[in-house]
Amino acid sequence: MKRNYSLYIVLLAALLLFRPAMIQAAPKTLDIYFIDVEGGAATLIVAPSGESLLIDSGFPGERDAGRIARVALDVASLKQIDHYITTHWHQDHVGGIPKLSQLIPVKHFYDHGLPATLPQDIRPESIDAYKQTVQGKSVALKPGDLIKLESTPKNSATLKILVLAANGLVLGEQPGAPQIKVCGPNFAALPEDKSDNANSVGILLSFGRFKFFDGGDLTWNVENRLACPRNLAGAVDVYQVDHHGVDNSNNPVLISALNPRVAIINSGPRKGGEARTFATLKGMKDLQAIYQLHRNLRTTAKDNAPSDFVANDEEACHGEFIKLSVDANGKSYQVSIPSKQISRAYQTR
Ligand SMILES: [Zn+2]
Repeated sequence: MKRNYSLYIVLLAALLLFRPAMIQAAPKTLDIYFIDVEGGAATLIVAPSGESLLIDSGFPGERDAGRIARVALDVASLKQIDHYITTHWHQDHVGGIPKLSQLIPVKHFYDHGLPATLPQDIRPESIDAYKQTVQGKSVALKPGDLIKLESTPKNSATLKILVLAANGLVLGEQPGAPQIKVCGPNFAALPEDKSDNANSVGILLSFGRFKFFDGGDLTWNVENRLACPRNLAGAVDVYQVDHHGVDNSNNPVLISALNPRVAIINSGPRKGGEARTFATLKGMKDLQAIYQLHRNLRTTAKDNAPSDFVANDEEACHGEFIKLSVDANGKSYQVSIPSKQISRAYQTR
C-alpha cells in the first residue's frame, strides 16, 4: 500500500511539473504579425522555435511602441524580441524602438549602417535615440547576410532569412553600383531617389517552400535591379507591399518577378495604398488577395480591397493587426484579421 501511495505522489509531481511546459509549448506555425502603425512599418516574425524577429518599429512615441509590445507580449506570448531590423532611418520605421525597448527586452539590432553625415531626410533625433538604445551593438547588414533564428523544432520546415538589399546595393553588386541601371525589356527609370528609402534593407524569408518578401521602403530604381538581370527573390507567396504601397515604389517589373499570391499593404488611412500600386497588384496573374492595414480614405472603393480584407476601416481606429500563420511544413498558410474574426487559407505555390 505504502509503495503505491508514493507512486501517486511521483505521478502528481510529474503532472505538476510538465503541465506548464505543455501549456507554453512553442508554436508549431511560423507567424507573421503586420502591426498597425498607421502608415509606418512593424512586422513581427515568430519562428516555430519561439525565436522572434521584428522588422521596423513604427513612429516615435507611445502609440506604436505600445501596439507592438501588446502584440509581442499578449498575443504572441514573447518574453523578448530576439532580433530587430531597422530597414532605414525614416521615423516611421526607426521611431518606435527606443520606447519599445523599455517595454520588452530587445536583444540584437541590425540596420543598413549608421550614416556618417546626416542627409536632410534623416532626423538627427531619430539617430541619437537609436544610438542610445543600441549602445554601440548594432550590426550593419549587407546583401547576402543571413539573420540566424534558432533552428526550428524537429519536423518543421527549414527557416531562412536572407538579406537581398541593403544600403543601396542588391545581392551580387559591388559598392558604388549606380542606382539606375538599364536592364530588361520593360525598363523605365524614375529620377534618382536620393532619400534613405533606396537604402532600405530588403529580406526574403523562406520556410520550406513558403516565401515572403519585405523590402522596407525600397523604391522604383532599386526594385528594377532586384528583378533584373536576375530575379533575386523568385516568385513569392506573400509580398509585404514596398513603401506602404506608395507609387514611386512598386515597380511592375519587381511585382511581376515576385508574382505574389497574397499582398499585404501596411498603409495608413491617408498614406500609401495608392491607386497605381493597387492596380498593378490586381493585374498580377497569380494574385488571390490584397490585404490592407487601413482603407485608403483618399481613393474610392475600386482602389481599395473589400472591407473584410481591411484590418482598419476608419481613421479613428483601434490599431488592429493582420496575422499570417504558415503551417509547420510550409505547404499552406492562413491570413487572418482577428478583430473581424476572418481567416482564409492559401496554398503555398
Ligand atoms: Zn515608410
